[in-house]
Parts: sequence; C-alpha cells; structure tokens
Amino acid sequence: MKARIFSGVQPSGNLHIGNYLGALKNWVEIQGGYESIFGIVDLHAITVHQDPAELRAKIRETAALFLAVGIDPKLSSIVVQSSLPEHTELAWMLTCVTPVGWLERMTQYKAKAQEQETIGDGLLQYPVLMAADIMLYQAAIVPVGEDQKQHLELARDIAQRFNSMYGETFTMPATHLPLVGARIMGLDDPEKKMSKSTAGSGHAVSLLDAPEVIRKKIMRSTTDSNPGVDFENPGAGVRNLLTIFQAFTEWPDDRMRQHFSGMRYGDLKKQVAEAVVAALEPVQQRYREITSEPGYIAGVLEDGARKVSPFAKDTVNIVKRAMGLFTAGG
Ligand code: ATP
Ligand code: MG
Repeated sequence: MKARIFSGVQPSGNLHIGNYLGALKNWVEIQGGYESIFGIVDLHAITVHQDPAELRAKIRETAALFLAVGIDPKLSSIVVQSSLPEHTELAWMLTCVTPVGWLERMTQYKAKAQEQETIGDGLLQYPVLMAADIMLYQAAIVPVGEDQKQHLELARDIAQRFNSMYGETFTMPATHLPLVGARIMGLDDPEKKMSKSTAGSGHAVSLLDAPEVIRKKIMRSTTDSNPGVDFENPGAGVRNLLTIFQAFTEWPDDRMRQHFSGMRYGDLKKQVAEAVVAALEPVQQRYREITSEPGYIAGVLEDGARKVSPFAKDTVNIVKRAMGLFTAGG
C-alpha cells in the first residue's frame, strides 16, 4: 500500500503564487508516488468571517484551480472538508487531548487574532482541526508552505500525546517543504508572507490575474534603494522576486547568479513578470476549460469524497474504540 499524503487550501480568497509555489506545485510533482488526498478546507476558512455566497463560489474555484495546475483526479482525491463529517468528529476528540497553552503559542493564531475585534474560538482551535485533517487519513507526509511548519509540529505533538494516552493509533506526519518558494512574501511588503486574506491590490499575484495585471503588480513591487541586484546579499523585496523567478523556472543557483548579478531592478522585474505570465497562462487556459464543462467539478468532488470516506470512517472508529466511546457493534 502506498503511503498517504494530505494537504489543503482554504477557500478564503484568491489563490496566489505563494499557494502555488509553496503547496500546489509540490502536490502535482509528488501525487503519483502516494495515495494523495487534497482538501478544500472550508471549515478552516470560516475561522474568520466569510460571506456565504462568496465562500460557496470560492470552494468551486479552488477545486477548479487544483485541477488546472495539474492535480489529476485519477491519481489524487480532491475533497471538500465539510463534506466529510469525520473531520470535525475527530477534531473534537483531539481537542480533548490538547492543552490550551499549546494553541495559544501558535504564531498564526497570535497574528490573526490581532486583526479581529472579537476572537472566535475557531481561530484558536484551527490547528487541532488541521491535525484532525491529517490524522484522519493517517497521512505520513504533508506538503505545505513554511508558514505551516509550526502547525505540523503541533500535529505531531497531539498525535504523540494521543498515542501515549490511548495506545499507538496515529502515524507521525512529516512536513514536506519545497526547496525554493516555501515562503513567498507580499509584493507590497516583503517582510510579510503573501496571504489570500491580506488586503491591497499590490499584495499578491493571483493565479487568475490577467497578464497585464500581473505585470503591473510585479513592476510596482517594493524593492530597495540599491541600483541593481546584489546577488549575495539582496534586500527582502529583491530576494523575493528572485525566489519567484527561480521557483517558476527551476533554474539552478549558478545560472541565477550569472544571469541576475548586477541587473537593474526594472529589468529584473520585467523578467520576473514574464516568467510568471508564461507559467500561469496554461493554468488559466485549463481553468477556463474545466469551468465551462457542466457538472465536471461536482463529479470530481463527489468521487473524491466517496473514495476517501472509508479511510475516514475507519480512523474515527479506531479512535472511538481507543477512547472508550460508543461504537455500533461494540
Ligand atoms: P489565508 O490568508 O486565508 O490564511 P493563505 O494564503 O495563508 O490564506 P492557506 O489556505 O492558509 O493560504 O494555505 C494553503 C497552503 O499554501 C499551505 O500549504 C500554506 O503553507 C501555503 N502558503 C500560504 N501562503 C504561502 C506563501 N506566502 N508562500 C508559500 N506557501 C504559502
Ligand atoms: Mg494561511
């Protein structure tokens, strides 16, 4: 049996090149080697308020983008988190073995809580639900961006704690980061990671941005006052542009150094913009094809749920038995 991988994206806004380079691109590369499950994690999205009609549309859009970037439904299962009740069921059981102090330490919780007037409990519980998403499928590998490293460490702590309290139950999930592009920064502020939920038209390049919009955003991105690229010691904005270029083109380090050392920022930006436009063009083309085929996305999501549901039910039953909860048939 192949090892399982699980990873997900929240349908909380427009998917951007950070999501692609940090997560989706990696998924496409490794999907064939594993039993691969990719989630549209809508229950995570509602940890901050979402407009219902928009959320519904974003779930569909996210699914279409998974397919458009190359997730193959013959190799991978694409599932909407809320269509499988076992995610929340297991999350509760794991909540009961998780100390609150572990959750209060999470960097993302602290950052997102700061932006809210009232902090929903869901924001604090988010990493437990994420641990449940992973452990529900006994995933051995979780391909994510760098910002999720801390949540993955927590997931392992929860798994370990459960195993020591109730006996060996969960596989330890390993974090799998891309070598280049694990943390893409905001174009407007290279000290902050690029995020779907960050406002500002110059912040992120969305996967569905038109070529002229992509060019404009990259040409206006924040750099520094140096005249050209100091390859050994670039400022945060220039480093980010170089990373974006390298992640899309997969150029080796020495070619990058030779090509970009000393280059004027205007030229650097033009080349980065063209690389991004060229990489996203076929994705956008496939996206248009996929979304114009009636019923296709719904079918993929139904198939995905049907395929993984037995894994999810199995795990929940095992956990219920381990904890002494009621199971049909004892
Ligand atoms: P939100 O602002 O709603 O949290 P997000 O952009 O952080 O949105 P998520 O849905 O939380 O996106 O994360 C989906 C995947 O994309 C995760 O694997 C995450 O690690 C990865 N990811 C998110 N932002 C970046 C980034 N800037 N660079 C690289 N990977 C990223
Ligand atoms: Mg996020």
